[in-house]
Formats: sequence, C-alpha cells, structure tokens
Amino acid sequence: MSAVKAGSTLARLPLREDLVGKTPYGAPQLDVPVRLNTNENSYDVPPDVVEAVVDAVRQEAAHLNRYPDREFTALREDLASYLGHHLAAEQLWAGNGSNEVILHLLQAFGGPGRIVLGFTPSYSMHPIISMGTGSGWVDGLRGAEHDPFDLSVERALAQVEQHDPDVVFLCSPNNPTGTALRLDVVEAVCAAARGMVVVDQAYAEFARPGTPSALTLLPGRERLVVTRTMSKAFALAGARLGYLAADPAVCDALRLVRLPYHLSSLTQAAARAALRHAEQLLSTVEAIKAQRDRIVAAVAALGLNPVDSDANFVLFGGLADEKATWQALLEHGVLIRDVGIAHHLRVTAGTPQETTAFLTALAHSLPAPDQTPSTRQPSGEAR
Ligand code: PMP
Repeated sequence: MSAVKAGSTLARLPLREDLVGKTPYGAPQLDVPVRLNTNENSYDVPPDVVEAVVDAVRQEAAHLNRYPDREFTALREDLASYLGHHLAAEQLWAGNGSNEVILHLLQAFGGPGRIVLGFTPSYSMHPIISMGTGSGWVDGLRGAEHDPFDLSVERALAQVEQHDPDVVFLCSPNNPTGTALRLDVVEAVCAAARGMVVVDQAYAEFARPGTPSALTLLPGRERLVVTRTMSKAFALAGARLGYLAADPAVCDALRLVRLPYHLSSLTQAAARAALRHAEQLLSTVEAIKAQRDRIVAAVAALGLNPVDSDANFVLFGGLADEKATWQALLEHGVLIRDVGIAHHLRVTAGTPQETTAFLTALAHSLPAPDQTPSTRQPSGEAR
C-alpha cells in the first residue's frame, strides 16, 4: 500500500502563510542528448583528477564514524590560497554549493522584518532563498542609459536609498544576462548601503580579460561579501562546494546559523583534492570561453541579439516567440533555458560539438519569413 494518502495535497498542510502559492526552483532535468540549461561545465572530470578525488575520499571513509572538522580548516586554507588577494583562511567560509553559503548569509543578516534587494533580471535563487528565510525581497530593476541589462551607479544608488536594504545582492558576471558589473557600482553600493553587500561571482573565472574582481575591494569593507563556487569553472557541480570571502567577523556571524558539521568530510576531501588539481580542472575555461564567443558571433549572424558575456553562457534576444523556439530546440534534442525574459533565451557554452548541435538546431528552429532555411546556417568553427 502506498504511504501517501489519497487527497494529501499541499493545500491541506499547515504551510507557512508566506510560502502559500509559491513555486520552487525548477530548471528542468531532462534526459536529452545536449543539456545546456543550467550552466554546468560540460567536460567530465579528467581521469587523474577522478583518481585523486577517489583516493582522498577513500582515506576519509574509515573515519566516517567521526564528525567532520566543523571548521573545515584545511579546506579554508586551500580556498584562500586559490583565491589569492592576500586573503587569510579566517576570511573564507564554505557550504554545500554557494546556494547554501547564500542561505547562511540570509539566515544571519536577513530574516523576518528585514529587506533584501536584488536587481532583476538576476539569479533566481536570490529571491527564493530570501523568501525561505522569511526576508522581505525587493525586486529592484537593472538598467543603464546604454543598456537595459546593465546596472548604472545612479540606478543602483536610487534603489538602495529608496529601500534601505539589510542585504543587497549584486551578481557579477550577472546570471542570466552574462555581463560583469563595473567595480564602481560595487564601491558605490558599499558606500551607500547600511546593510551587507553580497557580490555573487559564481562565474568569475570566465570573465573577459581585464575584468576586475570584487575581491580587490574587500580590504576595509567589513560588510562586503564575495561568493564563489566550484560548480562552474571547476566542473564540480555534483560535489556541492561553494564558498565566500569576507571580513572574519562575517564568518563569525555565519557560525551562529549554520548547522554543526554542515560540510561532510567526503565533500571537504573531494574539494581539497580538486583544488590540488586546480590548474588542470580550470584548463577547460579557455575552451568554454571560445565556445561562448562563437555562440555570440553565430547567433548575431542569425539576426538575433546576443548580450556580451563574461560567463559560460549567452543570453540572446530577438526571438519572435521564445517559448516556441525553446520547444523546437528540445525537439532537436537540445535543452536550453527560458529565463522568463520576453523574446530571450539563455544557452550554456559547452563543448564544440554541443555548440554545433545548438547552432544547427537553432538555425532550423527560427521562423524565416524572408529567408530560405539554407541561408540560416550557423557560423564559426564547426567541430
Ligand atoms: N550564483 C549564481 C549566479 C548561479 O548561477 C548559481 C548556479 N546556477 C549559483 C550561485 C549556485 O551555484 P552552486 O550552489 O552550485 O554553487
């Protein structure tokens, strides 16, 4: 007999009132040949890194009778030396993905009666995690004179002044638009805001040359936090390891809310083994950036409007019906992301073969009233 009683629906449960009617995070996980919808790294972990991870995990296995190092001290040291910028281990914090690190931040600095401001369109989990912690989310707006997806200092400051937030999210490079923020926006928001300023840099390693990191702004700014992840450039999304750099006092605040032993000894060991092979794991970054730039050029050649990207994905506009195009691509075995922006879709930059599959499918998925389908061939390398 099924354990689930007939008629047992969410509506009958004594759910928190502020969660009633809300929808969960829901990027489709579909079994199709080309999956380019969650900005994962398409390259498998190389065999010798697999060996190193397995060895490290094996060594921990005999000690799983004990709780892990609650302070993940060695991992914090390794993360500090990976980031550089003279960061000390006391300035590092980690969690099961940067989503958990963001959760810790909002548990400590958000919460009921507190305001969290983000600039939409941006990463969809910022409002969802805010909501889960009972924080009041304010959907601020992006925009600059030259570009509706950029965020000007003036626009950011006006909204900080209007809402007086306890936490401000800045996402750089921004998901889903792809472009990095100028540092003067971060500096201005830090100077104007009374609350914490969180710069989500999940895609930092993919930024175009010359893009400065908000890590350079940490000295002297005790309310600034920079979050990062091993899910993207490091190709370790399945391991769940995200982290942040901030003033050591911020980590003290996070100790108040995290669950004891939140990072398993297996996660710590796997992440440390991966960090020992950082150079090798990050060697896919240049190849992915090349595919990203190829996508930008090729979708423009198809008459669409790509947004400049510092990440491992490209947002492109100019679609008459983005939902129809998304569906048509899926029918060609290519899964990309409808991020809810009218006339736009977002695609992850993967391997050359995946890019070719996407561009070929896209060329066949666009309505072409004034062109024959044969003129809509993808450009760029066709490997
Ligand atoms: N921040 C941004 C901007 C993201 O796009 C993502 C994942 N898509 C995350 C954070 C969370 O990643 P993870 O929890 O895997 O570190």
